[in-house]
Amino acid sequence: MRISNLSKTYRLKSGEVRALNDVNMELPENGTVFILGKSGSGKTTLLNLLSGLDSADEGSVIEVGGKNIVTCSRAERDGYRNSHCGFVFQEYNLIPELDVKENVGLSLELQGNKDNKSAVENALKLVELEGYGNRKITELSGGQKQRVAIARAIVKDPKIVFADEPTGALDSDTGEMVMKLLKNISKDRLVIIVSHDKEFAEKYGDRIIELSDGKVVSDSDGEHTESEQQQKDFKKPKLPLKTAFRIGSSTFRLHPIRCLISVLLSVIAFAFFGASFNMVTADMRSNYLKAVRDSEMQYAVIAKEEVKQSGLVDNSLDRFFGADTRDWYTMPLTKSDAEILQRIYGHSICKIFNVRAFEFNNLFGMPYKQIYEETVDLKDYYAPSTSGFCNIDEAACEEFGFSVIGRLPQNKSEVAINDNMLNSFIWGGLIDDGAVVNIKCAEDIIGKKIYVEQPTVNENGNFGAIIAGKFKTVVGVVNTGCDKRCYEMHAEIEYHPHDKIYISDDLNDAYGLFTVPITNNFEALADFVLDNEENNTRYVFLYATSLGYYGAAANLVIYKSLFLYLGIIFFVISFALLIRFIVVSIRSQMKQIGILSAMGADYKNIFAIYGCCVGVICLVVYIIAMMLCAVVTLIINGVVMRESYAGFSVLSFNPFTVLLLLATVAVAGIGSLIIAFVNVKKATTISLINRGQLNENIQLKQDL
Ligand code: ADP
Ligand code: MG
Repeated sequence: MRISNLSKTYRLKSGEVRALNDVNMELPENGTVFILGKSGSGKTTLLNLLSGLDSADEGSVIEVGGKNIVTCSRAERDGYRNSHCGFVFQEYNLIPELDVKENVGLSLELQGNKDNKSAVENALKLVELEGYGNRKITELSGGQKQRVAIARAIVKDPKIVFADEPTGALDSDTGEMVMKLLKNISKDRLVIIVSHDKEFAEKYGDRIIELSDGKVVSDSDGEHTESEQQQKDFKKPKLPLKTAFRIGSSTFRLHPIRCLISVLLSVIAFAFFGASFNMVTADMRSNYLKAVRDSEMQYAVIAKEEVKQSGLVDNSLDRFFGADTRDWYTMPLTKSDAEILQRIYGHSICKIFNVRAFEFNNLFGMPYKQIYEETVDLKDYYAPSTSGFCNIDEAACEEFGFSVIGRLPQNKSEVAINDNMLNSFIWGGLIDDGAVVNIKCAEDIIGKKIYVEQPTVNENGNFGAIIAGKFKTVVGVVNTGCDKRCYEMHAEIEYHPHDKIYISDDLNDAYGLFTVPITNNFEALADFVLDNEENNTRYVFLYATSLGYYGAAANLVIYKSLFLYLGIIFFVISFALLIRFIVVSIRSQMKQIGILSAMGADYKNIFAIYGCCVGVICLVVYIIAMMLCAVVTLIINGVVMRESYAGFSVLSFNPFTVLLLLATVAVAGIGSLIIAFVNVKKATTISLINRGQLNENIQLKQDL
């Protein structure tokens, strides 16, 4: 190895330090070379330059293979260390995540040598640590650690072993043993030992070079023996993914509590970010339509409302977020409303008058309650009351699947009844002129008169009082195909056309409700009904599922803008937390990376370690955040539903959340990976080790 004009200057903020000044020497291919000198004389600097751990400013170092490691590429320098160099550091620099045999074996693994069991055993035998293969690094004494380090250095049979103060941390007896070992292995290789111990140097050194202020001041063997140099290629370093993964995921094992807290914090932030996204992108209408479909309801009920600005002045935050501060009042529906809806939907409409609780059980001379309780089996076929009147035409009958015996009413003096009501008359008889007439079938009741109350509309077009009843002639029986059980099962029994008395269209012009069948193009109608406000009037659906739709819509406006801000905040927090966590985790790995780099690992290997580290963190955060996000979304949905009295899920888990969170986590992960990687690329190997050591010391202080 020939060193010519080698110089190195450290540039600091406080000035420049010329650590090496024009060093020239020729080193042999084997034997021990001691570099002596006072602290700060440049020994370590020289060693780092010879081993390619650091880069020189000037000069050349021609290694045995013939390459100049000062001017060659970084990849070549990595290869040089990987192929030819072994290291023994003062602080041992073993990798704590790996056990003894793995630490030693790593040297070989980096050379692409997988089957290394016997080589590792031989190396351990050489340093007298047979049987220590499975020990953890933390279970070794200082001397044992240094011997493991020597085994690691020589296992790959390097041409040069660099040892920087290898006995500095050891007592003299152990130091002696380590020196003997180094002397021993120098038979077939060059061993360069930095030391300030003159005694050791004289005892074990084949040659002693003394430095002072970065200059060679004495050399026990100044002769230059030019050795034959042939150009050789270096081995490309390899690192098995398994080992990369073990080192990369070690943060979790080394600092479980810190990791748990960090993961938890980022998970919470991510989950709330995802939930905010779900809120902001909530598609209430499609959730609502899905709920309608899932309910298997057969009829939709439509009403009309007038909306007016609420008399109360609302200065609350709700208003700031754009809340609807209006009240609404039910209005009568008209024939032209029916025409509009029919045009949109195409299906028949059953028009229902706004009168309910019409009791006609007094027709039977026996109160409903009594009948109901005493004749249990009859209650299924008995209509004790009806909730109103409706108008229905032949086309509607067909669409609803109703058949008619007799005919539908044509004027105000006529009515039709439903089959269920007919059953009641068959059971209880009909009081006609004070006498009870037996009814056996539909034909028996046609032509008879029954007592019916009827609604009025006042001059404002609103519903007025129910006027006194009138006797009307039954002209038909509408077979709705539904018995009482069916009514009871139907959630919206009040509104649907089964149990109504059918009256003619000309009774009056104002209807309370419309009933339409729910068909597969219901969405077209829903789109119209849910978005039709004009001149402060609107159509609304009116059944259990539609309950709270407008309330929820109004609340959602508030929540959406609120969660938009929250979402942005959560986004920033989750992003920052994750990056911080990753950067801290990577930083805690810096020394290991440096050691690996000293052993010859290249960018790809280091990237694999960072990649594993980041991958593990991101995956854990992502999976837990995803689950928590689903839970949070559910909880928020529950709150919104309760607050709006909604009969359907207002909020649902947006499938895009899966991608959004993945993308955010990935961007944070890849971002910090790039940051870390750029940092490593800028740094020299030795500065990685030193900075890593510094971080560890700081961490130690924090832990204490
Ligand atoms: P030795 O190993 O002989 O104690 P070093 O080679 O470590 O000496 O240091 C030589 C000189 O270079 C010293 O003055 C030291 O302060 C300085 N030096 C060493 N490393 C650095 C560094 N990374 N940055 C700045 N100055 C350094
Ligand atoms: Mg030193």
